[in-house]
Amino acid sequence: MTETLPNSLSALAEKYSFFGFTDLPTVHRRGVVVLTHGEGPYVFDTEGRRYLDANSGLWNMVAGFDHPGLIAAAKAQYDRFPGYHAFFGRMADQTVRLSERLVEVSPFPRGRVFYTNSGSEANDTMVKMLWFLNHVEGKPERRKILTRKNAYHGVTAVAASMTGKPYNELFGLPLPGFIHLTCPHYWREGRPGESEAEFTQRLAEELEAVIAREGAETIAGFFAEPVMGAGGVIPPSAGYFQAIQPILKEHGIPLISDEVICGFGRTGEVWGCETYGFMPDAIISSKCLTAGFFPMGAVILGPELSDRLENAAEQVEEFPHGFTASGHPVGAAIALKAIDVILEEGLLENVRRLTPAFEAGLRRLAEHPNIGEWRGKGLMGALEAVSDKETKAPFPAELSVSERIANACTDHGLICRPLGQSIVLCPPFIMTDAQMAEMFEKLEAALTEVFAEING
Ligand SMILES: *Cc1c(COP(=O)(O)O)cnc(C)c1O
Repeated sequence: MTETLPNSLSALAEKYSFFGFTDLPTVHRRGVVVLTHGEGPYVFDTEGRRYLDANSGLWNMVAGFDHPGLIAAAKAQYDRFPGYHAFFGRMADQTVRLSERLVEVSPFPRGRVFYTNSGSEANDTMVKMLWFLNHVEGKPERRKILTRKNAYHGVTAVAASMTGKPYNELFGLPLPGFIHLTCPHYWREGRPGESEAEFTQRLAEELEAVIAREGAETIAGFFAEPVMGAGGVIPPSAGYFQAIQPILKEHGIPLISDEVICGFGRTGEVWGCETYGFMPDAIISSKCLTAGFFPMGAVILGPELSDRLENAAEQVEEFPHGFTASGHPVGAAIALKAIDVILEEGLLENVRRLTPAFEAGLRRLAEHPNIGEWRGKGLMGALEAVSDKETKAPFPAELSVSERIANACTDHGLICRPLGQSIVLCPPFIMTDAQMAEMFEKLEAALTEVFAEING
């Protein structure tokens, strides 16, 4: 650990910035890591240290930190037309092109796109669309939103209400009418003696019971990430979406796939809903949409919601909602290029190529007596630490096990993320085999160190 000099950027960062989702005692002890630039999947700090970023920034920088094609697309668009909105029947040409492309790559035969600046705003927008739709169609009481415990849908007041994390109690959230069902994590939530199929069946019955209790006529939608991301990389139990989708259909409840992380290749298909074989009514996209090179989110509506929303908006003249920078032409130009880079220039193929080695690396580390489970899909994975493999008992919270592992990784030049008692990996899609090996080598060194310390 180098000493933080009083006028260093690290000291200034601590003095003048307020950090979200940051363990502040750790920052005070270790200092802020100030980054200056990146090369491929690596980032560099002000001390000249290099880190392999096994989290792709925040799940999003899937093409690495210096992709020349994306930089060129941004520069060219700034030269041509550096900003415009999408209100009052006006829209930049690149934004028109992007909507066409998004519907083309979506699982929908046709549809419409609405832009935001983030994933949270896209989820908020989707909820407002459902509320608006039901109101104009004469069913204003159809407002409740179903999600799952451990789900992450963002931080704005509505998206935070959808997010099933205990920290939202600190804000007095969720708002009324946001209901969180059981997390479909078989290893943690399954009961003794219950098979995975029985677990899935129990969750489907829970959904039916909640709909019966609340009344289908009061429920506006069900939102789900195909693989829960910020909940700790939790793939659904086998058959989960096949079990719940018919129940939602029967009760006329739209299924919204929050593909902010899964969308554009993370799980090995373009969309997570393709990986898990279900057809949503709408898709929420952000993060990889621009490969992290521009803040942008999108709601992609399937045919039915698209038609109903268009009719409802026509009846009352307009859909009174939108953000100043929605559909920004620079974001659109970058997104068009990012989609090409991922789908046409080999990134999605590389995800598929790397997945077996990624899974093998996770499986090998999970042999450690203090790793209870490895889990993942495509290039997103997690290792969950336990104090006892048999009972799956977690370590005492005050040991901050995952935080310590992540800090040890940082000291080895690897960035990965602690989430609960898990360590999460979601490497960039451009990783080479050598970088994948480097990632597991460094993670193993960190795990060995920290577990040795803890076990004495
Ligand atoms: C990150 C994330 C969001 C929120 O996106 P922001 O751009 O941070 O607002 C929503 N849903 C999922 C699944 C996410 O991973």
